[in-house]
Amino acid sequence: MGELLHVVVPTPAHSTVGEPLSYLGEAPLAPGSLVRVPLGRREVCGVVWDPPPGNGTPVDAAQLRPVGAVLGGLPPLSAGWRQLVAFAAGYYQRSLGEVALAALPPQLRGLDAVQLARRLQRKAAPAAAAPRHVPPAPSDEQAQALAAIAAEPGPFLLFGATGSGKTEVYLRAVQALLARDPQAQALVLVPEINLTPQLQARFEERFGADTVVALHSGMTNPQRLKGWIAAHLGRARIVLGTRMAVFASLPTLGLIVVDEEHDPSYKQQEGARYSARDLAVYRGHAEGVKVVLGSATPSLESWQACDRGRYRCLEMPARIGAGALPTVRLVNMNHQPRGTLFSPPLLAAIGQRIARGEQSLVFLNRRGYAPVLACNACDWKSECSHCSAFRVFHKIDRTLRCHHCGFTERVPRACPQCGNVDVAPLGRGTERLEEQLVELLAQARRPDGEPARVARMDADSTRLKGALEEQLAQVHAGEVDVLVGTQMVTKGHDFRRITLVAAVNPDGALYSSDFRAPERLFSLLMQAAGRAGRDAARSAASEMWVQTFSPEHPMFAALKKHDYPAFAEQQLQERRQAAMPPFAFQALLRAEARTQEIAQAFLQSAADAGPGLDGSGHVVIYAPVPMTVQRVANVERAQLLLESGSRPALQAFLAAWQPVLQGLRVRGLIRWAIDVDPLVI
Ligand code: ADP
Ligand code: ZN
Ligand code: ZN
Repeated sequence: MGELLHVVVPTPAHSTVGEPLSYLGEAPLAPGSLVRVPLGRREVCGVVWDPPPGNGTPVDAAQLRPVGAVLGGLPPLSAGWRQLVAFAAGYYQRSLGEVALAALPPQLRGLDAVQLARRLQRKAAPAAAAPRHVPPAPSDEQAQALAAIAAEPGPFLLFGATGSGKTEVYLRAVQALLARDPQAQALVLVPEINLTPQLQARFEERFGADTVVALHSGMTNPQRLKGWIAAHLGRARIVLGTRMAVFASLPTLGLIVVDEEHDPSYKQQEGARYSARDLAVYRGHAEGVKVVLGSATPSLESWQACDRGRYRCLEMPARIGAGALPTVRLVNMNHQPRGTLFSPPLLAAIGQRIARGEQSLVFLNRRGYAPVLACNACDWKSECSHCSAFRVFHKIDRTLRCHHCGFTERVPRACPQCGNVDVAPLGRGTERLEEQLVELLAQARRPDGEPARVARMDADSTRLKGALEEQLAQVHAGEVDVLVGTQMVTKGHDFRRITLVAAVNPDGALYSSDFRAPERLFSLLMQAAGRAGRDAARSAASEMWVQTFSPEHPMFAALKKHDYPAFAEQQLQERRQAAMPPFAFQALLRAEARTQEIAQAFLQSAADAGPGLDGSGHVVIYAPVPMTVQRVANVERAQLLLESGSRPALQAFLAAWQPVLQGLRVRGLIRWAIDVDPLVI
């Protein structure tokens, strides 16, 4: 007779019933232990879980299969970790097994993990952090923020202008933590992989390279495993990573930092659609650990949490070294000839920068050469045959590429519909901007008499491994005079020589049907402005240029004054009147099917099953609608919006609804998923 063990295994997304599974072990195992167990014909990695209340339904031991190997070299995952995983699975309506196993590095399934752990455990005491170089004395604002972080429970919203020294506050907060407890661990989250090298360098410079590990999806599996184990064994003092790192195993966690907390990248957009920012706040609360969220343009959710006294707002309005924020200049594009890409005053301003040896950054949120290729004789456009979207024209390799499904073809020599050879690009992307700038700036000269150098940085130019680092290094070294890019270049980077930033065509977001579009645009423009004038000596003449057809839009008035609070207040007022988040809570049910009718029929049955369920009295169920990009890779997509003034009511409803959805059988339905607190509707 063996021991009854409850084990969480990788289960399909929605099979929440019957979790965890029961197995027989030779000896009792602590919850959190890692094991290998048979599942069907496979052997999978699993996590021993806490017994269900009352020990669950009685099981017949004779029916149970035995546990395989125990990953004995690895200490069990902590109760705090298990609680986080269980919360995330419940809140985001996914199975425990899916969330738990996705939170572990893929190679943990192999037994080499144990050997690696043993090797790491045998090394020099765990890394001790020692400040390696003398950090700058904190400014008054930084000192005040740090004092509040030391004295109060938080969570904190560090609302600091771009260049106000937020990162320095994180470094000092970590330093204070390690001074109190040399064995403590700090978790630092950043929104994008391309921001990790810069931040990692700053932490390593301060605390020593062996104290910091990174965790993000850009790492190889062995690298991830090593970083994960170093964190799990309590050897790494600082774990720095993207959203997935919120699930890192950190036995001595003492502080959580979420940098650029407003960034939409913190929301996972597939599988369990969790918000790493929100889970960080939950984790901090559950583990009694302080949480610092930082941003120059906080999410309206976090801003409102400060209004309500749930978060403590710490303000740092001034740039370090008395540097000035850039002057904002709007160009009214209604007064420019049709089709103008760069207005003459903007070009002149860029030319001046080149002559002075300063850099300019020009951004446009669209990669490729042109979003559409069109025939001038008939109505042919470069539609994707698999999606309800146009394929983007990439001139560099003369391809038409679908940015939704990846379908790629050579550009046709002539119109495929009428044979006309005059097919032309419509609209503009970063490739086209780069090409035009090279032409327009052909006469511009640097102080050394050399022609101006224009470079482009976007998902295409940085696809190859190492390309991003190389391009960033070139910008930092001053080898580039004008950098053209997508929003990738507007975030977080500490470029020292940029004194001009230009948004050439940001208007689309002003007329979007997405109610979050103005919030996203405002923060994008503020972040972009934050790249200019970061060197105080050059900041006085720094400028942010915006070309727009709607210069009278109220958002630009706030942007001119760098006045986020004014913008936030105006937006929150609109949201309150319209009962939109953060004054209401939302969830989406998304469905994918062979036809739009089938997808919508499933959603309609789901809606019909709603009334009478727990919480339904407080939940509004809207009608099914096609998604904005309705067809992707020949799959039709539709969605249904749920809204409630009460988060608990919405949660109760979703929990009751989920098993009903599992029972719905609709022929031709491919899959469905629930998205709680969706960012894009
Ligand atoms: P943010 O994260 O708010 O954009 P950073 O922390 O990157 O700002 O700081 C901007 C620049 O100012 C960095 O180069 C940083 O090294 C420098 N800096 C930050 N705090 C101080 C300080 N107290 N004294 C001198 N320089 C500082
Ligand atoms: Zn044609
Ligand atoms: Zn496509």
